[in-house]
Amino acid sequence: MAFITLGEWLAHRELLSPHKVGLIDEETESHFTYRTLNLRARALAAYLQQQYHLQQGERVAVVAFNAPEYLDAFFACALLGAILVPLNWRLTVHELGIILNDCQPAVLLYDSAHAELARSLQRTCQVRSLLAFDKFPGEQADLSSQVHPFTTTHGEEIALILYTSGTTGLPKGVLLSHRMITWNAINTQISWGLRDTDIVPTFAPFFHASGLNVLTTPLYHLGGTVVLLRGSSPKAIMSVIERRRCTVVFAVPTVFQQMLQHPAFTGCDFSSVRFFITGGSPCPPRVIAGYAEHGLGFRQGYGLTEVGVNCFSLAPEHAVSKAGSVGHPVFHSRARIVDEFDHDVPAGEIGELILAGPHVCSGYWQQPEATASVYRDGWWHTGDLVRRDADGFYYIVGRQKDMFISGGENIYPAEVENVIIAHPGVLEAAVIPQPDPRWGEVGLAVIVPRVPDSVTPEEVLSFCAGKLARYKLPRAVRIVEALPRNAMGKIMKTELVKEFQVT
Ligand code: ATP
Repeated sequence: MAFITLGEWLAHRELLSPHKVGLIDEETESHFTYRTLNLRARALAAYLQQQYHLQQGERVAVVAFNAPEYLDAFFACALLGAILVPLNWRLTVHELGIILNDCQPAVLLYDSAHAELARSLQRTCQVRSLLAFDKFPGEQADLSSQVHPFTTTHGEEIALILYTSGTTGLPKGVLLSHRMITWNAINTQISWGLRDTDIVPTFAPFFHASGLNVLTTPLYHLGGTVVLLRGSSPKAIMSVIERRRCTVVFAVPTVFQQMLQHPAFTGCDFSSVRFFITGGSPCPPRVIAGYAEHGLGFRQGYGLTEVGVNCFSLAPEHAVSKAGSVGHPVFHSRARIVDEFDHDVPAGEIGELILAGPHVCSGYWQQPEATASVYRDGWWHTGDLVRRDADGFYYIVGRQKDMFISGGENIYPAEVENVIIAHPGVLEAAVIPQPDPRWGEVGLAVIVPRVPDSVTPEEVLSFCAGKLARYKLPRAVRIVEALPRNAMGKIMKTELVKEFQVT
């Protein structure tokens, strides 16, 4: 059996709907048909093969804002069996360096806004060559016919590595195969009811699984239309929904909340929208109710970079009656709720959610131990605590893993704590989440000074700035004499959360 690679999707779409517009770039107002998209991806693949001698399995990193060239790069690499590594441009040079030295890309792609950064990364990290977006070959038909695509039997080859900070504080590259991304697309189409007439705005950055895989790749698979935006300002999103008559809109809860509070919300023409989808973190019921008052329906999604961003779906008709639920597992997915020994818990009880199916990733890049600790007997352990009600609806009730989410961005306390304790005046540190009306959660750093007055909160914050991306910086620092510990000496974060509860 020869699996259809992600790179071949565009050729298949060209056969089925050559003149259909697959992509609109809001920045330049350019429209791209599936024929053009296929030509561009094939020409770039041939160029990478001929000029950069790119081989199957080699990595191609990207530091850039969302742009058509980003998608060209994704499909060109997929044609060659090379692996795209989207980089989070919000990270510091130090943080990016750790990732680049881990994946050692053959080529680093960049847009004009990140040219300086790309050059400095090449000087300091293991990066073979650089290639700017504006040097891409575009739609050269001659070149596109010269590409030598790779073939695969089951699609197990890796197409994408997405880095997460991880609970250990060190970055881990999640391996997304051709098989996984294909099944995520199929699951999304079936379970969310996507149509080839759908038009979706994409504003989540492509370095997040949600930018590429919530709707962009499923829509390309189906032959719909993706509208690309650079930023996620509420006004820009609402104006693009009106102008392009968007039919399905995904955003994290913070963005939907900002739209609801924006003065343009009540006057915005949402008549083209079939439904909104939110996910990535818990959505406050008041936001869903606020949209429902205007007759606007919500789907609730849930997922992880590791098992696919679209693993669960709650249909709009249940959005209010089952508020707080993430619904049912998507069609080709198995879900179980287990205790610490991986035994199924009785109905209605809380346990860890574990998932199996063709949408599960292949593990972490060069980290077999980290992979084995969460991928056991074919089941991926999500680290999320869930319960299922009598009607079979799932609810995320907490997390086993030390992680919280601020404005849709995951923050791993271990990573922030590792930076803080490098300060000579700090003996110990624990970072905990605190509720925040705008961002959902923000970080509070609780620290023990090495000796009394050896450090101030302001010094801790300025020490972290520049070492951590801005969104990871704690909102505040509190100084204590000692951190609560259990008998094993482990910091009891739940105690700290109670102690610093915001009233
Ligand atoms: P992205 O990287 O694009 O933000 P994502 O948020 O779907 O994708 P991850 O960043 O891997 O995926 O974060 C996964 C974690 O986010 C889950 O383990 C869970 O704790 C949390 N999460 C995702 N969706 C929801 C939801 N609907 N409700 C509550 N928590 C959620």
